[in-house]
Amino acid sequence: MAQSHLLALRSTCTRLEVGATIVRDKRIIAGGYNGSIAGGVHCIDEGCYVIDSHCVRTIHAEMNAILQCAKFGVPTEGAEMYVTHFPCLPCCKSIIQAGIRRLYYAKNYKNHQYAVELFQQANVKVEQVDVDHRMIDGKNREKQVFVEGLIDKLSSTGIEEEERKKLFEEANRLFASNVSS
Ligand SMILES: [Zn+2]
Ligand SMILES: [Zn+2]
Repeated sequence: MAQSHLLALRSTCTRLEVGATIVRDKRIIAGGYNGSIAGGVHCIDEGCYVIDSHCVRTIHAEMNAILQCAKFGVPTEGAEMYVTHFPCLPCCKSIIQAGIRRLYYAKNYKNHQYAVELFQQANVKVEQVDVDHRMIDGKNREKQVFVEGLIDKLSSTGIEEEERKKLFEEANRLFASNVSS
């Protein structure tokens, strides 16, 4: 899941940064992120191409990961997918049809009831899991200590206790180890 979050950082469509990793027999076999066709222009450069409130330029991370397997002839039957967001309907169907048996996702995202039903019907196990951001940010703890120090310093300038508490809570939220909030 940490790998999928790293991949998401490479997304070229600004509407949603998604990353997906396919694992088979405990080995990573493919990864994908939201982006344009190979060699195409990028949403981050040209803006999204929106039709009916969807960006039609983007190939979704899940599809990119599956298509990478298709391109290089890697079987996806019985594989697992780790994805940063709950998949949209077309991706849900592709995941099922690719023979992926287990789906781990981090964030709920417009979870479509029909997608939930299809996963159930196809007997794909779906599970929401957290990602520990400390795994992908080696300086996370250092940053937290630094920010807490700043808030302490700020307190000595005589800011309201209520405001200090708010800042402290916000810092805690930002440095928390999961992304489900
Ligand atoms: Zn876009
Ligand atoms: Zn999708």
